[in-house]
Amino acid sequence: MEKKKVKFIRVNLDKCNGCRACEVACSGFHAKPKYSSFNPARSRIRVVADLLNEEYVPIRSTDYTKAGCDGRRFYTIKGKDYSQCSFCGSVCPTRDLFKEPDSGLPLVCDFCGDDPPNGLPLCVQMCPSDALTYEEREEEEVAEEPRREDVETGLQSMVVKHGLQKVIETITRMANKG
Ligand code: SF4
Ligand code: SF4
Repeated sequence: MEKKKVKFIRVNLDKCNGCRACEVACSGFHAKPKYSSFNPARSRIRVVADLLNEEYVPIRSTDYTKAGCDGRRFYTIKGKDYSQCSFCGSVCPTRDLFKEPDSGLPLVCDFCGDDPPNGLPLCVQMCPSDALTYEEREEEEVAEEPRREDVETGLQSMVVKHGLQKVIETITRMANKG
């Protein structure tokens, strides 16, 4: 089975002090030209802060969420309730987090590209308390099963284009071959 490299950043919440240097570093690295501006609203990592309890949770952005996301659970951490949305890295239609302030385009963490300076993502390099650790691991690539609705849509359009009889004949011939 094929192996693929999976990158991730481990967060040690006990070490994070909420300084937000990671946000500044990320936004600067991705500014155009590089380091021409430092605006946390453009960062692909954001620190959720509970100032009263001095709890800080850095969240890295991921892809767009599905329109039908039902992530409405709650987490209780040290006696305080947080909605699941607080720790979600998805670019989501229901909030402004991880969207370019001007264009609304998604800000997705790219691990600072294939060749980050000093071989490490900027947020990891700039974290003064070593709360972020970059890691890579190899995982077996799992072939994705096609979704039933996709298969049905594909078949439907073939039937419209070639006629039902032709599609049945072709599928029968393919099944007999192999
Ligand atoms: S790895 Fe790079 S792109 Fe991702 S959050 Fe950190 S600084 Fe931003
Ligand atoms: S730079 Fe490090 S310590 Fe500061 S907020 Fe980000 S993860 Fe936390």
